[in-house]
Amino acid sequence: MNCPSLDKLTTELAKLPGIGPKTALRLSYFILRSPNKYVNELSNSLTDVKDKIQLCSKCYCYTEQDICHFCLDPHRSDNTLCIVENPSDISQIDSSGVFRGRYHVLHGVISPMEGIGPDDIKAKELFKRIEAVKDTDLAITEVILALDADLEGDTTALYIAKTLKTYDIKVTRIAHGVPIGGDIDYIDHRTLGRALENRVQL
Ligand SMILES: [Zn+2]
Repeated sequence: MNCPSLDKLTTELAKLPGIGPKTALRLSYFILRSPNKYVNELSNSLTDVKDKIQLCSKCYCYTEQDICHFCLDPHRSDNTLCIVENPSDISQIDSSGVFRGRYHVLHGVISPMEGIGPDDIKAKELFKRIEAVKDTDLAITEVILALDADLEGDTTALYIAKTLKTYDIKVTRIAHGVPIGGDIDYIDHRTLGRALENRVQL
């Protein structure tokens, strides 16, 4: 079949994470067979996310306004900041219902191996934000680092903790360890080691 437009669609779909060439081709045929109304809506929503969504000017999560609803919510505490790597981490943490403070998205983590330094993530913005409210009612008293338990997460956590040393701020990191319902027999040694380090008194 000589249908360059179909080939092009398949090529683009295959670039999506988790979509192999076969699935991409199946999706292309599905789109081709779909009613125009659906295809128009799909196409509009693709352009809409790029046109309408921007970064919140305070916390850098995604929003369609200048300031996101997490930053505007009057029922959240201004004094606690939860630091995450990606905007999608916020929905995960927020659905736990445990954290009621504000967020800050780094948009990456420090990775010397990949040449990503502190200036390549929103770290400067974080320190500026903390500095701006220092000695006011809105001053940050605790920073919770909700970063991955890997080398990059460790490096980033250490860097932020070190930089915040001069402030009167409690810097904590979310505990990593045995998942709820997890069986100790099946947990890898590193996770178990972390769980032991992060043990809590009963
Ligand atoms: Zn925000």
